[in-house]
Amino acid sequence: MPIVVLQLPDVKRKTETRPQKCRYCSGETFQRWGKVKKPVRDNRCRYVFVYRYRCCTCHRTFRHHPDGVDQADQTQRLRKLASLLWVMGLSLRGVPTALAAFGVSLSHMSVWRDNQEQSELLEKQRRWQGVRVLGLDGAYPLGWGKKRAVLIAVDLGNGVPVAIGQIDESNPQAVRRFLEPLVQRLGVSVIVTDDLTSFRPVAEKLGLEQQVCQFHVRRWVSNALRELQAVLAQEWQWVLEEIRRLLAELPPEGSRRLFELWKQIPERRTGQAGERSPLEQLRHLLIRLSEHWDSYRVFDWQPDVPWTNNGTERVIGRMKMRSRTVRGYKSWSGMRAALLLSGSGLAW
Ligand SMILES: [Zn+2]
Repeated sequence: MPIVVLQLPDVKRKTETRPQKCRYCSGETFQRWGKVKKPVRDNRCRYVFVYRYRCCTCHRTFRHHPDGVDQADQTQRLRKLASLLWVMGLSLRGVPTALAAFGVSLSHMSVWRDNQEQSELLEKQRRWQGVRVLGLDGAYPLGWGKKRAVLIAVDLGNGVPVAIGQIDESNPQAVRRFLEPLVQRLGVSVIVTDDLTSFRPVAEKLGLEQQVCQFHVRRWVSNALRELQAVLAQEWQWVLEEIRRLLAELPPEGSRRLFELWKQIPERRTGQAGERSPLEQLRHLLIRLSEHWDSYRVFDWQPDVPWTNNGTERVIGRMKMRSRTVRGYKSWSGMRAALLLSGSGLAW
């Protein structure tokens, strides 16, 4: 679970410090050049005092804002608070209503902009910290229809989303375009995914280790085994049991064992139009599992790699809970910001 950090920035009524450096010429000596009373939107202050300074080197003047205040009329605290209220479940129009109780008037468009800003801060923070293990999974935001897929990347170290792309996860080129800059920027070394074939060549090209979610593998393999059990000749049923056992235990030598089983099964050619016989299906299953075996057990030798993609699914679950109000966003950038924030829970 992500760590819940509810820390709002402090807002000072006036500056306690002098400016360190001139913003124009980097000069370091200043004269005070007056004081202005700046009205602000905040849950506690109605106004703050801002000093003007004149640089002794270049003679230009500038405002030196107190902590928690900048050029904007909302304080940094209010911007964060508005965004936080939205993440906690209020709608874009519900946030201004709640803040009105503190005597703050804010439009729902301001809340929209605050969300945008907070999600950018969140992304910057990720970039700074780096991400070693990245979970990837696709989703279809509610109300978007099946055609508008998104791919979500989650830092599995802390369960916070780091990026969202409007990308079909089954297209390897698109996945690569999305993943490559993230890998370079964040220093990713392991990805955790489901068993989709599109992730495998991308991981290889980018030199990443890939852990395949074992919940997914167990689900599709046990379905395949159940189907085979019904049609496979009695003399080969023991192979199904052996596969079950290997997947339950995930031993290092599993790949070799599966390959040996594959060799024991006689190859039989089917006609051009003919369907695969049960025995051929079994062969196919064995070689696929044998070839993919390493990607099932990265968690065993790489520290901090989970053996399932649950961390990513939890983030997507949080996004889905909020997508009813997220739907109000018309543009992709707004949608993306909203999804990033709602997926992050309160971990910022
Ligand atoms: Zn200067």
